[in-house]
Amino acid sequence: MTALYGVVGDPIAHSLSPLIHNGWIETHGLDARYEAIRIPDGEFSNGVRELEARGAVGLNVTLPHKHAAAEFATKKSEAVTRLGAANTLHATEGVWQADNTDVGGFQDMLAGTLDAPLKGQRVTVFGAGGSARAVVYALSEAGADITLCNRTLSRAEALLEDLQIDGGQILDLETGLARLAEADLVVNTTSAGHGGEGFDLPDGRGRLFVDISYGAAAEHMLEPARASGWKTADGLSMLVHQAARSFEIWFGIAPDTDDALKRCRAALEAKR
Ligand code: NDP
Repeated sequence: MTALYGVVGDPIAHSLSPLIHNGWIETHGLDARYEAIRIPDGEFSNGVRELEARGAVGLNVTLPHKHAAAEFATKKSEAVTRLGAANTLHATEGVWQADNTDVGGFQDMLAGTLDAPLKGQRVTVFGAGGSARAVVYALSEAGADITLCNRTLSRAEALLEDLQIDGGQILDLETGLARLAEADLVVNTTSAGHGGEGFDLPDGRGRLFVDISYGAAAEHMLEPARASGWKTADGLSMLVHQAARSFEIWFGIAPDTDDALKRCRAALEAKR
C-alpha cells in the first residue's frame, strides 16, 4: 500500500502543505502521497486511528489539534514535552512519536534573514497563542532577551510560566508598541492581520519586523511596517522550513526549501 502522509486540522482546505510535500515526494520518486484531511475538534484520536487503517504513517498537525497530538503520542521530543504541543507525528511499527518542527522552522527562517546571532538581542514578540509558544521557546533557546506583549496579559503570563522562562518581560499590546524603540527585532504572532488590522509602528530605522502569517494577512501588517522604515519578512519561510524538518523525520531526506518557497509564493500570488 502506498504510504499515506497528510496534514490534519479544521479548517484545512486552505493549507499549502500538500503543495509543498507532494512536490518533494515527486522530486524524490517516493512511494507516498500527502493529503489535507479535516478532523473536527474533539475527534483527534478517532480521526488518526481511521487514518492508520488507510496506511497513515506520518502527519502534520495544525489548529485545533496541536495539544491533542502531544497528548496522543507515546514518544515525545523535548520541545513537545515543554510546549505541550506537537505539529508532526511519525509512526514506527504502530508507535506514534511527536515532534514540534515549528520551533526549528522559525529558527531556520531567522537564520536565513538575520545578520547577527540572536544571543543577547532584544526581541519583542506580539501574541501569546499557540504559535507564540514555539516562537518564544526558539528565541529563549537561542539566548534572546524576550519582551512578550499580548492583548490578554494573563495568557502571556501563563506562556512564560508554562515554558519556565525566567527573566522575560510582559507588557500589554499598547505599551509594547510604545516601547519598540528598545527592540532590536520584532516578531508578530497575533492573528490580527487576518482581520485586516495593522499595528501603528514607530520609525523602524531599518530594523526587522517579522509577521509569521503569510499571504493577505501578513501584508496587512507588513505594508504599513515597510512604510514606517522597517525591513520585513512574512512566515512563508517558517512554514516551508517546518515542513522540511517534518519531511526529513519521515523520509531521512533534507528537501529543497528554495524550490518549495517559490512554489508557495506563486500559489499565493495566483490567489490575489
Ligand atoms: P491563536 O489563536 O493561538 O492566538 C492568536 C493570538 O493573536 C493571541 O495572542 C490573540 O490575543 C492575538 N490576537 C487575535 N486577534 C487580535 C487582534 N485583533 N489584536 C491583537 N491581538 C490579537 O493563533 P496561533 O498562534 O495559532 O496563530 C497566530 C498566527 O500565526 C496566524 O496568523 C497563523 O496563520 C500564524 N502561524 C504561522 C505558522 C507558520 O508556519 N508560518 C505556524 C502557525 C501559525 P488574545 O490572547 O488576547 O486573544
